[in-house]
Amino acid sequence: MFGPLNVNPLKSKGAKTGTWRTLVRPHFLHKNCISCKLCLQICPEGCIYGKEKNTYSVDYNFCKGCGLCADICPKKDIEMVGEESKEEDK
Ligand code: SF4
Ligand code: SF4
Repeated sequence: MFGPLNVNPLKSKGAKTGTWRTLVRPHFLHKNCISCKLCLQICPEGCIYGKEKNTYSVDYNFCKGCGLCADICPKKDIEMVGEESKEEDK
């Protein structure tokens, strides 16, 4: 019989994205956020932080640009922008 698999599916928080992110990254607009936390919960990298309405943001050091946060936001308060965009989250 097989023993228990010893896998450890860690989030890649601890492995910086470096330069290989997709060509887009999320920009939090901070206009219509209702603090539902869906973006925070769906992010596979665990790199979104914030606590109150219009305070959520992302640690770009770990974001992979997958776009899930923008897709799930019910208020469309996250937009994906090109890496060259000057839009910055604080
Ligand atoms: S684009 Fe993907 S990895 Fe980046 S913050 Fe959104 S859900 Fe997380
Ligand atoms: S999913 Fe959108 S509305 Fe919900 S906390 Fe994130 S930014 Fe705010």
